[in-house]
Amino acid sequence: MQLPTSSSIVILTGAGISAESGLSTFRGGGGLWENHRVEDVASPEGFITDPQLVHRFYNQRRAQLRTVQPNLAHLALAELEKAWPGDFMLVTQNVDDLHERAGSQKLVHMHGELAKVRCMLCGEVLPWEGDTQPGTPCPTCGKKKSLRPHVVWFGEVPFALDCIGRALEKCGLFVAIGTSGHVYPAAGFVELVSPFAYTLELNLEASQVASGFFELRSGKATELVPALLKELLAGIQAPVHATGP
Ligand code: NAD
Repeated sequence: MQLPTSSSIVILTGAGISAESGLSTFRGGGGLWENHRVEDVASPEGFITDPQLVHRFYNQRRAQLRTVQPNLAHLALAELEKAWPGDFMLVTQNVDDLHERAGSQKLVHMHGELAKVRCMLCGEVLPWEGDTQPGTPCPTCGKKKSLRPHVVWFGEVPFALDCIGRALEKCGLFVAIGTSGHVYPAAGFVELVSPFAYTLELNLEASQVASGFFELRSGKATELVPALLKELLAGIQAPVHATGP
């Protein structure tokens, strides 16, 4: 792949990038998330039906974050962000905090974050380390039964779609890593990039939308992402020129 160093890069990550850190994916669980149906723990209807269960599920996920570490793929993306001379955006569908713990800063959590809660009454978004229960009062407005995970559930609109859309339209390279292509709108991002951009999928198994990419590389994220970093950094040392000598 030959990429001018002035090109902007957009990377999309999914649950597969965190799999080797020990966090299960959806598809790996046969469509279940840690043995739960997604409708039960990742939808507004599920929260209304059984708020206790949903709070417990996200308490467990939040606690699990303390037992896992960023892997070589997260670290390679943080290094790429620091080294790349052009614009860079890392969009993750993941609600874990492994990208930021690896050092990524130009990061958009389009599906929210486990480490935050939101008050449905006053709208405040708060960093949160411990557990929540339905009766936990909002520290800002004091109301009970109003806190929920700051996570985008099925049927809800993801965050920052405007700024992601603008970045996709002008990028020279779009890479999707460890995402199955079942969840929209992220699965449709490859269709939004310019026809002149290079599009690359890195995945253990080809995604549902793999045919929309120029290139598919199959394997583990911890091997493919550091290899991609090496390839792109080699291009910085030997820049690609639009016209030859
Ligand atoms: P998914 O579970 O639907 O698909 C995972 C993809 O990762 C698959 O294509 C699989 O082949 C690939 N994969 C598995 N192990 C891999 C590895 N070691 N290296 C490279 N690829 C690997 O995940 P999705 O497409 O991200 O959609 C699931 C939704 O679930 C997301 O919206 C996300 O918010 C949520 N989720 C998040 C987490 C997390 O934050 N870690 C975990 C589970 C689910």
